[in-house]
Amino acid sequence: MPDIVEKIKNAGVIGAGGAGFPTHVKYKSQTRWLLANGAECEPLMHKDRELMVNFAPEIVNGIALAAAPVAAKELWIGIKSKNSGAIQAIRDAAKNIDLKIREFGDFYPAGDEYELVYEITGKLVPAGGIPLQVDSIVNNVETFYNIYQAHQNKPVINTFLTITGKVKQPVTLFLPIGTSVRHALEVAGGSLIDDFAVMNSGILMGKLIKDLDQPIGKTTGGLIVLPKEHRLIQRYSMTKSQMNKIGHSACDQCSYCTELCPRYLLGYDIQPHKVMRSLGFTLTSKEMWNRYAQLCCQCGICTLYACPEDLYPREACVQSIDNLKEIGVTKWEGPTEVKAHPMKNERRVPMKLLNNKLGLTPYEAGAHYKETAYEPPYVRILLDQHIGVPARPVVQEKQTVEKGRLIAEAVPDTPLSAAYHASISGHVTRVTPEGITIERI
Ligand code: SF4
Ligand code: SF4
Repeated sequence: MPDIVEKIKNAGVIGAGGAGFPTHVKYKSQTRWLLANGAECEPLMHKDRELMVNFAPEIVNGIALAAAPVAAKELWIGIKSKNSGAIQAIRDAAKNIDLKIREFGDFYPAGDEYELVYEITGKLVPAGGIPLQVDSIVNNVETFYNIYQAHQNKPVINTFLTITGKVKQPVTLFLPIGTSVRHALEVAGGSLIDDFAVMNSGILMGKLIKDLDQPIGKTTGGLIVLPKEHRLIQRYSMTKSQMNKIGHSACDQCSYCTELCPRYLLGYDIQPHKVMRSLGFTLTSKEMWNRYAQLCCQCGICTLYACPEDLYPREACVQSIDNLKEIGVTKWEGPTEVKAHPMKNERRVPMKLLNNKLGLTPYEAGAHYKETAYEPPYVRILLDQHIGVPARPVVQEKQTVEKGRLIAEAVPDTPLSAAYHASISGHVTRVTPEGITIERI
């Protein structure tokens, strides 16, 4: 009889909050604090709230199951106070376990892992480190839902996501992994406008979708449809060289990007205004400025909220991190001790202000949960949705597969890999090292 950690691995559970870290690996350690992250903070996205309102018993059971192998002594869940329905649902479901609820104000980025650990445990993750170093394990609420399903021997074949913005029926629902963005939008009634663009899994930390036939995956938390002429879409459509050029000539070093950076305010040595200086230097000289980018979590506050000149400090940080990787610098080698900035709480970014500044207030919609049995005509399941080594296919073309069958295994003897399962029943029509296509029968 496999234990829960083995079941989590067999079910292909990976971090659903965005990073895609193979979950079973986390549960091989011991920890004091086990933290469930329900403090969703991306504008317009409501999938964590809807999951907690509608599936609280599964989440709570998942937390209880996950607590055992790591011998967690304190179980916590972080939820924004405004989501009172979710708080009540979790409270009702947790009558028999000692699960404490930590309520958060409506700020961005309340759901950042480092923030959550600090606010609940009072400890700061060492610079360049992970929560386990301060005796904490964090997972998104959807991951705990998937842990519960894994315990019932049900693999991860659906993702829970919000489809919103300029669609006919904004909604939050489960869809089979590998559904194309095009088909997913049809489930929400389609776009209300002809000339639209779609953001994948958030406005601040998400990405602009280039191809509507791209499949959704285990970490897809939302699809947000906006008009192509929306300022945000225009900004995301800029090329790297355009961003660099404008950044090099227009940055006046006001340092607002640093002063409002949530990681800087937590006490980490991340200083995007200094990173902006790298844009004016040759590869060798910019090394000095690049190091101020290393602790960036790409939350987007500097680029989309703080900079009065509409420049791209976050993108400059990403570029600097890439440049450092090219010369073999992949780890933070500076001081690891951290002390929160005295102005941290005063400089938090309220969601209302953020939504207004980003021109998103008119797009806010309930996007409540709707049960659906929708299955697309085909799915394309990518084998690298997790961090680590891509999964290895165990099916061949022309084979018939049942929904839930293993189609790609976690590569053995590697520290990080994850399994994938058929999200619909059908014929396997294409197998490549990158992904597997199944056509519905
Ligand atoms: S906020 Fe903008 S203008 Fe000011 S230092 Fe940062 S990138 Fe430069
Ligand atoms: S994206 Fe900008 S604000 Fe966010 S952590 Fe990185 S530098 Fe700081």
